[in-house]
Amino acid sequence: MDHRVKPQIPAVVFARAILMLWLCRLPSLNALELFGRRGAGRHFLRHAMPGADQIANVSEILDVPGLRAILGRMYKRLVRNKVLLPMRGHRLAVVDGHEINTSYHRCCPKCQTRQITVNGEKRPQYYHRAVVFMLVGPGFHFLLDFELLRPHDDEGSAALRLIRRVLQAYPRCFDILLGDGLYPQARIFKLLRRHGKHALVVLKDERRDLLTDARSLFGPKPHTTFTIGATHYQCWDIEHLDSWDSYPEKVRVVRSLETTTIRERKKGRWTEREQTTEWIWVTTLPAAQVPTANVVCFGHERWRIENEAFNELCNQWHADHYFHHNPASITALWLLLFIAHALFHCFLRNIKPCRRQGLPVCSWASLMLVEFLAPLMSSA
Ligand SMILES: [Zn+2]
Repeated sequence: MDHRVKPQIPAVVFARAILMLWLCRLPSLNALELFGRRGAGRHFLRHAMPGADQIANVSEILDVPGLRAILGRMYKRLVRNKVLLPMRGHRLAVVDGHEINTSYHRCCPKCQTRQITVNGEKRPQYYHRAVVFMLVGPGFHFLLDFELLRPHDDEGSAALRLIRRVLQAYPRCFDILLGDGLYPQARIFKLLRRHGKHALVVLKDERRDLLTDARSLFGPKPHTTFTIGATHYQCWDIEHLDSWDSYPEKVRVVRSLETTTIRERKKGRWTEREQTTEWIWVTTLPAAQVPTANVVCFGHERWRIENEAFNELCNQWHADHYFHHNPASITALWLLLFIAHALFHCFLRNIKPCRRQGLPVCSWASLMLVEFLAPLMSSA
């Protein structure tokens, strides 16, 4: 809904302009205005490009629930078209926090603040942090929703709001929620169980009774071993642990010692060395329904939000930059970023493999920019 009084430019033009900003992976609203002034994107916008200041101002009042609804429709279409599929019979989702930007100088009333010591002197640092909800399936992932932390929020509170909203809007979109070491929180586990969902999160806080108890029960001999590719897995799986005081139900803890043989070339000679890493997860999944190997496989899927979402969005899409420093604008821009990200990956998926193979992903992004900038070439 457009709340502006007598708008001269329809709100949809601004939303399309921001979508174009993302699809072209431009670094600023000024760059968008500059290209737009020469006619780039006119066909897509069906209107002249608004000024950078106008886009910034309108981004504060864009229809955020409407943008979430577009993402919801995209999610349903991806499931219907069998692009987003279950993994080993389960629908997986990942929730994770991400810090968007930090500054010692620029802040807004909704910034989070922390004290940082610089050259022996304490200085306030301002930043915004958000929690992101992503659905993961074999070969495809979809960023569904985004929740910005409020000034004195912790990540768990924002995650709780986000998970509640997703459960209300799309109750069947996942059945296992994955999270990192910040997420073994009783309030999150209780919410998920109330909705018949399961949690599978990293357990790494050595101070917790649950981890101490589980470690005392692991024993020297693994319960299961298996090998996938170059990695050998030794796993321990303990059910019915009740040493989590604030959580009333019993939980299961799975430990995986993973040894990978790494081949390296040193001084002209190939050498092999073994690297071992330890992973421990706490989960509500019953062993009778989900065997140890699947818990380990699902547990590692959590990394996809780091590798396939945050790394890509920040390194290639300029997402860790405030295009306009305003909380409402940040939320609207990130939701439009999720739409652009899904459109790009659907486009990439639909290109015939024979054409896709020859070119790296970034060159398809450049081709998209060239398509938008075509009017500049013809007017030169
Ligand atoms: Zn701020």
